[in-house]
Amino acid sequence: MALIVCKSCKKAFISGPKEEEVCSDCVARLNELYPSVRNFLRNHDEVFTVKSLSKTMGLAPEEVESLVSMGLLEYRENRKEESGDKPVFYARSRHKY
Ligand SMILES: [Zn+2]
Repeated sequence: MALIVCKSCKKAFISGPKEEEVCSDCVARLNELYPSVRNFLRNHDEVFTVKSLSKTMGLAPEEVESLVSMGLLEYRENRKEESGDKPVFYARSRHKY
């Protein structure tokens, strides 16, 4: 257990054994949000970045990054040169939370 600053809302919280980076309030909120984000990405062929996805969907960039932390979205590995604004894609695999 450790005191962690939530990636999404920046509040401090005590993380559990999985060393979560997102507090339980945000996990609940983002889990509800995720289906619409996934559907959006599925219905669009173009690549969205953290910045463009958050802008298009009316989210904070921190919320998009938190979805990645939760294992719901993934960064596309093939474009490593973009450090600040990474392309994202929905994760098909296991979820961390
Ligand atoms: Zn939070």
